[in-house]
Amino acid sequence: MIQIQHLPSLATGDPEDAPVPHVLQDPDTGLPWPAPTSPEPAFVTLAQFLFEAVAETTDGCLVEAGGICRHGHPSWLLRLGVI
Ligand SMILES: [Zn+2]
Repeated sequence: MIQIQHLPSLATGDPEDAPVPHVLQDPDTGLPWPAPTSPEPAFVTLAQFLFEAVAETTDGCLVEAGGICRHGHPSWLLRLGVI
């Protein structure tokens, strides 16, 4: 069963901490991506994904930075529009 997680708001009034809007579909195919099943990584973790060119997907798999796992989940870098 897929549970959609509603994470507590991190908004503190600091624009640097504003939630990043998610990309909800594959820009190439227009098909919607499945809802994330693992928690959104911290910004520093996203930076590490870029640096190492290996990223966690929204269901916790590891793929190349701009990749999509075999379950159809995009990397967080894609989901968050970083790349
Ligand atoms: Zn997966």
